[in-house]
Formats: sequence, structure tokens, C-alpha cells
Amino acid sequence: MRIGKAFSYDDVLLVPQYSDIVSRSEVDIATSLSPDLIFELPVISAPMDTVTEFEMCKAMTQAGGLGIIHRYNSILNQVKEVANVVGCGGIAAAAIGITGDYVDRASALIEHGASVLCLDVAHGHHSLMRRAIENIKTVFPDIHVMAGNVATKQAFEDLANWGANSIRVGIGGGSICSTRIQTGHGVPGLQSILNCSRAEVSLDVKLVADGGIKTSGDMVKALAAGADFVMVGSMLAGTEQSPGRAHMNINGDRVKNYRGMASKEAQIDWRGSVSSDEGVSTFIPYKGDALPILEEMKKGIRSGLSYSGARNILELQSRAEFITQTTSGLVESHTHIMDRSLD
Ligand code: IMP
Repeated sequence: MRIGKAFSYDDVLLVPQYSDIVSRSEVDIATSLSPDLIFELPVISAPMDTVTEFEMCKAMTQAGGLGIIHRYNSILNQVKEVANVVGCGGIAAAAIGITGDYVDRASALIEHGASVLCLDVAHGHHSLMRRAIENIKTVFPDIHVMAGNVATKQAFEDLANWGANSIRVGIGGGSICSTRIQTGHGVPGLQSILNCSRAEVSLDVKLVADGGIKTSGDMVKALAAGADFVMVGSMLAGTEQSPGRAHMNINGDRVKNYRGMASKEAQIDWRGSVSSDEGVSTFIPYKGDALPILEEMKKGIRSGLSYSGARNILELQSRAEFITQTTSGLVESHTHIMDRSLD
């Protein structure tokens, strides 16, 4: 048995650093999956059926980021979504599984223009993941494979050695996730990024921080800790571009569904039965257009880099200095005027 200490986003702050940046427009937050797959915004929308289909991909493309079309539909429907993304000039990414029809699905998606395949499973450090990456890379050696999820340095190194080009890092931290409650397993989000960013891999394998990101401040912390991208679900769920309709709840508020892909509700819809239930389904306030939200993320990340005196993400990573904060520090970190009583 081993025991260690682990930090999540709220446990730390970045210490402001000397800066000679005069305007935030000097800050470049571009990032890449490969020399051909370059993005102005280091944000990816999660492959979930209440987050990413064509409309979200279109918004992500407009904002400079990437959307990954979820895999919880027929091959035909997913192919249509991919073709639409390609048709509007976007980079098409699709998620697939690692068992069942995944090779057929991959072939169909690539044939219709997908440039990225996301091998999307809850516990990616697995022999089936190794077999799937090897099979995909044998048939499609040039396709970009994003694999995950993992939470340890060893797992990151193994997936990289098996052929993954980018790796999703984060287990148990998603806002709709109950994995840690059900199974006792997981690693606090920021710590898993810190661990995986120390992985020793011979190729340039990109790190995607996934799950539990609530604010642009968390995004900056993830990037500073070594992520090349952040992946978000809840921050983009509930928008006009997320799949599903908004409706009124009993209080008269407009809401949209946001659910974990391992929730009972999602499993019943997509496979007709429930195996392990590791997510929840809920309704969140309708947020309107995703584009202003993405614009705010962009501004927040830029601003974050400037506080570290960094002109790009690599500079952020080399200049970043984290400190841990106490519970009182966390209270102080949130706006707290509203908590004070009037008497
Ligand atoms: P969020 O940004 O905190 O809402 O987390 C989104 C991430 O949660 C996704 O990108 C997935 O990695 C993860 N996720 C999605 N569905 C489930 C689930 O049912 N259980 C556990 N994790 C999930």
C-alpha cells in the first residue's frame, strides 16, 4: 500500500509574476495537437450527448477550439455529424469506443473526413485500450489518436508508447461523475495533470486536462500545470448549441439536461440497460449562445497568462509558481461580499 498527497484546482493558486506585457493582445493562447492541427483556443468540448454534436462543433470552430462528437449514436448518425463539421470547414473529431464496432466506426468517420479519433473510455489504462490503439494505428497509421482517460504518469507513458498522440487526463473529477463515490478510485484533477506532465515519453504527446474545470481560472491552472488543452462538459452544457431542447421547470426557469455518459439515464437511452452506474443526470439553467461564453474563456485565459508574465502557454508552464491555499484562502478567493449579513 502507498499513500500520497494530491491537490485539486481549489487547493492552489498561481503566484503573480513580474510582467512586461503591455496589452493582453500580446498574449497568444494558441496550441496544437500536431503540426497540422493548430487551435487558437486551447479548449475542447467533451464527447457527451448533452454537450457535443454538430452545432457545438461549429461554435467551437468559430471560437478557435475543437468539439468532439460523442459516440452514443449509430455510425450513420455520427458520420452525418462529422460530414457537417467538415462541410463547414471545421476539424472533425469523433469519439469511438475500444470494443464492438469501433473499427467500423473509425473507418466510416475517417472516410467522411474525421482528422482526430478519440478513444473514449472511463479507465483508459487497460489492455483493451492497448489493443484498440494498436488496431487503429495498424489500419490508419496517420490518424491522430486521442486516448483516455488516465490519471497517472505510468498510464500516460503506457498510452503514449502504445501509439496515442494525445491523452485525456482526469479520472473521477467530472461535475456529473460519481466514479469516486462508487469505486473509491480517482486522482484530484490538478494532481493528475501534474503527475502526467512529468511523464517521460519520446514523442510529443499532448495532454488534455479533462473533468472538474469550473472557471477560466481553473483552465489557467491546468495549462500552467502542463496541459496543452482543457476539455469541458459542464461549462458548455446548457447552451443553445448543446444537444437537446431547453424547457421550463416547475419554477418557470429555462433548463437543459446535462448528464454523465455512465449515468443510468444515458445508459438506458444508448444501450437499453445499465451496467455500472457512475454518473448523474441533472437539469442546469439554460445559458443561451455558447459563443460569448467561449469568448469569456478566451479573455480569462489570456488574462491569466499575463498575470504570470507569459506570452504563450509554454512560457506560462515555465514561469508558473503554485502555492497551496487554506480553507480561509479559498473563501477569500471567491467573491464574498454577498455572504455578509446586513446586521
Ligand atoms: P465536467 O467538465 O466537469 O462537466 O466533466 C466532463 C468530463 O466528465 C467528460 O469529459 C468526461 O471525461 C467525464 N464524464 C462524462 N460522463 C461521465 C460519467 O458518467 N461518469 C464519470 N465521468 C464522466
